[in-house]
Amino acid sequence: MKEEIMKIKLNKNKFMEDYIENLQRITLKNFEDTSDKDKYFALCDTIMERINQEWRDCKNKTKKTKKAYYFSAEFLVGRSLGNNLINLGIYDEVKELLDEIDIDFESIENFEDDAALGNGGLGRLAACFMDSAASQKIDMYGYGVRYREGLFKQKIENGFQVEEGDHWIKDGDGWSIRVESDSKIVKFRDQTVKAVPYDMPMLGFENGQVNTLRLWQSEPFEEFDFSYFNNFQYDKAVEEKNRAEDITRVLYPNDIQREGKVLRLKQQYFFCSASIQDLVEKYKKYFENDLQFENFPKYHVIQLNDTHPIVAIPELIRVLVDENGIDFDRAVEITKKTFAFTNHTVLQEALETWPKDIMLEVCPRCFDIIEKINDKLVEDFKAKGLSEEAIDPYRIIRYDQIRMANLAIVMSISVNGVAKLHTKILKDDTFNHWYKIMPEKFNNKTNGITPRRWLVYSNIRLSNFITDKLGSDDWKYDLNKLKELEKYLEDDKVLEEINQIKYENKKDLARYILEQENIVINPDSIFDIQIKRIHEYKRQHLNILHIINLYHRIKKNPDMNFYPTTFILGGKAAPGYFRAKAIIKLANEVARVINKDPDVNKKLKVVFIENYRVSYGEKLFPAADISEQISTAGKEASGTGNMKFMLNGALTLGTYDGANIEIFEKAGVENNYIFGAKVEELNSIRDSYSPKEYYHKNSDIKDAVDSLVSGELNDDNSYMFLDIYNSLINPQGGEKADSYFLLKDFEDYKKVHEKINEEYSDRKTWARKALKNIANAGYFSSDRTILEYAKDIWKI
Ligand SMILES: *Cc1c(COP(=O)(O)O)cnc(C)c1O
Repeated sequence: MKEEIMKIKLNKNKFMEDYIENLQRITLKNFEDTSDKDKYFALCDTIMERINQEWRDCKNKTKKTKKAYYFSAEFLVGRSLGNNLINLGIYDEVKELLDEIDIDFESIENFEDDAALGNGGLGRLAACFMDSAASQKIDMYGYGVRYREGLFKQKIENGFQVEEGDHWIKDGDGWSIRVESDSKIVKFRDQTVKAVPYDMPMLGFENGQVNTLRLWQSEPFEEFDFSYFNNFQYDKAVEEKNRAEDITRVLYPNDIQREGKVLRLKQQYFFCSASIQDLVEKYKKYFENDLQFENFPKYHVIQLNDTHPIVAIPELIRVLVDENGIDFDRAVEITKKTFAFTNHTVLQEALETWPKDIMLEVCPRCFDIIEKINDKLVEDFKAKGLSEEAIDPYRIIRYDQIRMANLAIVMSISVNGVAKLHTKILKDDTFNHWYKIMPEKFNNKTNGITPRRWLVYSNIRLSNFITDKLGSDDWKYDLNKLKELEKYLEDDKVLEEINQIKYENKKDLARYILEQENIVINPDSIFDIQIKRIHEYKRQHLNILHIINLYHRIKKNPDMNFYPTTFILGGKAAPGYFRAKAIIKLANEVARVINKDPDVNKKLKVVFIENYRVSYGEKLFPAADISEQISTAGKEASGTGNMKFMLNGALTLGTYDGANIEIFEKAGVENNYIFGAKVEELNSIRDSYSPKEYYHKNSDIKDAVDSLVSGELNDDNSYMFLDIYNSLINPQGGEKADSYFLLKDFEDYKKVHEKINEEYSDRKTWARKALKNIANAGYFSSDRTILEYAKDIWKI
């Protein structure tokens, strides 16, 4: 394996010459007069020039071969500089070279804004897949949207979340090439725009492969309407321009919950239409000899990342029928062999449906096509003797609502969930009716994360340690090799090293948190971290309620045996999700009260991280002792944050949910902390569940819940804490009390925390558990996941 890898040798002198030259050329300044930002952009240019040849070669080589296309409305890429240098195998060398001319790499790295073109796990998964596909030499191209504004920046003001715009490319974009000549025209019912592709190179890890992430930007079809301009109707002329640019202006900040807006469907249709046109056009250009469209699926497989890109299905049919004269039924057959669908959640509020009138307003021809598919489907069921009622769950259109998941299932070769339990729930419950008639389509692909970004780049200490202990860095190509670390489980010196690495990482994080949040934390305390989007099902409020109760107990009993602990939370709430924002306010208020209390703040600290994002995560995961993964069983499809923590040697404190289950399976339940009800139990008690009983019977629960309304905590008259209180024991307007079972799981959660607190002092045993987790994290490499997609679904 290793011998095959064409490590790109770095000619140091040449690189340096090019770099200085680029720096002076783009700034028109002498080296000494350039700013750090200039230095960052010149470095991007120099790297882009270096990879240009390989990139073109890869594009050319794969012109006529079968490829996978990953269609996703989100790619949460984060920063690219460090990762690209790692994947080129020149990270250390470049750092040294810069050092020689007195440039501090870390300071110029900070000039890169995160490309936050995604909300959370789903978008980050797409980015990890791009890294893994290139690293495994799989020809997979990404297609998505180039939002001008990424996910909002989160400010915390007086404990409240405040959203700010994220114009991430305002100073330029060092990692994209605008490919004007591949622009497409996208027609909506009432508007025609130009889709301009921006290509980002996706570098394989030290293997010379460069795949492409193609993101489309919406621009006016005609730049300026001079007839308006000449008549001095300047406003009218720019109006059209703005209307076109609006389509890709901003990423919808909803995680999980669907957003039923015209503009949202326009975004989806925009990038799907441009992408489909791109594929069909290239097919006609490069496959002249094989040009019956029946062979299209021989060369293309399109993986749909959740429901957002499903409108690509009717769009392919439209392009085949309307623009290439193919008969409708033939077009349907071709399309059916081209698509594969990944489901990401079983939460009802996320399964996308579009009202007929909105679809008609945006892309009426797509509605026609969907209606035809639906009619045919219903006809087939009737021919088989099914009653109207029995057909209902299968209908793509019902009560003038288009159910996108049903469309995708009918029209795909494969339907997959993203962790074992999740796929089981899809088969047994969510899509059970489909599973019964087409079981062969259903399969599982447990998510993964790229070890390059989430270990090699972000945790250099641990990475060097592993290479040192295994005697080579083969594990970076095949993460299963980490298993060999198990030979050190009884080696006291090695266990001590593990603890030392974690300690150094914690000191780094403590410094960073002091800088960013202005809070002093103690690296000798347990770092217990929960970072992810804020949502009721993820139960950050369970974590906080427990902290409140713990605070009260320490306060009452100052001599209580307690290992000092720092609780760190972070994450963004959708701007319109009141209760999620209430959870943020609560976390900040609890942090304020505890951190200023001299009776406890030597033992207990609480930090709410402002603006959690990929680049902040890169500092948090390596420093965690405990990974909080406490979603209500059955609700988290997979989770990938859990995998990042595991790979960095944190122990999981988690429920039987999503990929947590597989983490426990691989690393051993005895090396992690499991708590809470399983999904079967919750299903069986759902209708009879009475949170009030738990509240009255358990004084710790009562203590924590009451503090929401006792006046001890101040929500600045926002009624946010009352809202959380009511959601738990006093439901309003048809809502069910505590539908995420916080009070049911509270006692168990408290006990497992006590166990952690006690066991942490046995530092050697703890290190052994950490090592056991690291050594068994190989399965959670997205290299494994992407190879499974390639083998089982894409057949490439
Ligand atoms: C990994 C990641 C996520 C997903 O976290 P979960 O805990 O799986 O929900 C969300 N946001 C960012 C920035 C991430 O890096």
